[in-house]
Amino acid sequence: MNSLSILRGPSIARALGLIKASNSIPHNTAFSFSPRPLECRRYQASATCKLWKKDCNRALSSVKATNDEEAAARVTAVDADTGAPTIFDKIIAKEIPSSIVYEDDKVLAFRDISPQAPVHVLIIPKFRDGLTQLGKAEQRHGEVLGHLLYAAKLVAEKEGIVDGFRVVINSGPSACQSVYHLHLHVLGGRQMKWPPG
Ligand code: AMP
Repeated sequence: MNSLSILRGPSIARALGLIKASNSIPHNTAFSFSPRPLECRRYQASATCKLWKKDCNRALSSVKATNDEEAAARVTAVDADTGAPTIFDKIIAKEIPSSIVYEDDKVLAFRDISPQAPVHVLIIPKFRDGLTQLGKAEQRHGEVLGHLLYAAKLVAEKEGIVDGFRVVINSGPSACQSVYHLHLHVLGGRQMKWPPG
């Protein structure tokens, strides 16, 4: 999510926030840090401070996960504009199960299979009409785009989070979009952080 991608970096930010990318590290100190995994690797080899090693290991595994996700997003993007059906077409056709939260003649909202918050619902247009991603939107899509946003508010109401929720659209490989059928993520039920990853 990942924006998402907004939800994909909190642990690394926290881990890296403990570490200062400097050659003179005062051990057992609270550090400010900008993400520099290579320096972290270097310190991982040399540091004797257990706290430091632990934080570096955590940071590096987060970096690996992020890199995997980015690589996967680049692979998925290759087929983005072929018009090939996606997993969401199967969900619309009810060929595979989903937990539907809201549905009307234009959009379908269902729970994300890998929730990033207590409430994590995806809203998709039933008719993709070239909207593989937001970056492909044309003027004629204005109505359905507006309807998707309105549906997000309806979903937030239904889920009891209308007082505070987030709507995310990942568009393209740089945003780690993984399914090329436009979708809104509606997230809530916990305190959201800013800035997103
Ligand atoms: P994105 O990375 O913005 O393209 O988001 C795609 C989302 O679809 C991810 O959050 C996935 O967890 C979610 N997803 C993939 N397959 C399914 C599925 N079968 N049912 C529900 N959500 C899914």
